[in-house]
Amino acid sequence: MMRKKNYFAGPSVLPIEVLEEMRDNIVDYEGNGLSIIEASHRGGMFEEMYDSCLSTFRELLNIPEDYDVYFLGGGATLQFTMIPTNFLVKGKVADYAKTGTWSNKACSDAQKLGDVNVFFDNKAENYTTLPDPKSVKPSDNSAYLYLCANETIGGIEWKDFPDTGDVPLIADMSSDILSRPVDVKKFGMIYGGVQKNLGPAGATFIIMRKDMLERRNPNLTAYMDYALHAKEKGLYNTPPVFSIWGVKLVLEWIKRNGGVEGMDKNADLKSGLIYSVIDSSDFWRSPVDKRYRSRMNIVFRLPSEELEAKFVKEASAEGMLGLKGHRSVGGLRASLYNALPYEDVVALKDFMKEFERKNG
Ligand code: PMP
Repeated sequence: MMRKKNYFAGPSVLPIEVLEEMRDNIVDYEGNGLSIIEASHRGGMFEEMYDSCLSTFRELLNIPEDYDVYFLGGGATLQFTMIPTNFLVKGKVADYAKTGTWSNKACSDAQKLGDVNVFFDNKAENYTTLPDPKSVKPSDNSAYLYLCANETIGGIEWKDFPDTGDVPLIADMSSDILSRPVDVKKFGMIYGGVQKNLGPAGATFIIMRKDMLERRNPNLTAYMDYALHAKEKGLYNTPPVFSIWGVKLVLEWIKRNGGVEGMDKNADLKSGLIYSVIDSSDFWRSPVDKRYRSRMNIVFRLPSEELEAKFVKEASAEGMLGLKGHRSVGGLRASLYNALPYEDVVALKDFMKEFERKNG
């Protein structure tokens, strides 16, 4: 079979080894005589797999003991509601940076639930730059400070994070988790959907410092309450088993391939190849402030929408998929997640050069 080259933003490319491992074990999980997706999440087979998944996650990201780690359902989107429901208590204000689509969505949900201070909003420039993290200070009565580490649609990424002192820093890392080392201790909470760098869609990872639970609102309903999920390690209700299994295998693949440092180095190499084409002539244009360009989602434009449509069509004919920008912003986008092979980035670079030669 000829695998297509997959530049989709999420769900997105998975390591071929992981897909093959899933294929080989889907009917008979490691010789147990049944599939992991047929087994109870209260049984040993699942628990062993889940524990191994969580401990590899802890090891790779160097997550300290005083943080809980688990998975929930509902996507990253559910967290847009759960975060303010838990932590935006009366009399306090939540600080939000509006840096693109995903932080806007999180912010607008928080605004329905309590007082919000938007400390940065780059709408006037189409969300093409970020604040200097050193200039970011939480409000005096801040419940937490929220940001989206990597805006998947706008292709913009925080390279450093603000120091928020005693105010918890909360980050959506859906689209750049495990692409670089992160000092987890700087954060009260890190979360994200797994369907980009971590595995098949379905699970949402939650990394939360244990003392965050003391800041919760009272009277939360069961599923909304992080304390319940922390106590049950994410197994209060049926977890997204298939997705978590995939995450376990992807984490092991990352470990075999140089860990987070290896992913970080590859992300530099891979994104560097494409940005060097974009920067090499006026034919291409990157709308994002160079200092904050994402290594995971490369957003770029051509001189006309007609040429952009032609690019997508011709790339697709070459087996290169997912290069159309998000429907809300147009243009082009290449997502270069951890699992995207280096050769597929070289292929894209070569295709871009050839496209420029013919159409530039
Ligand atoms: N945050 C970011 C940065 C995302 O890229 C996405 C999805 N693309 C979401 C949140 C929403 O995730 P989900 O679809 O899992 O709810």
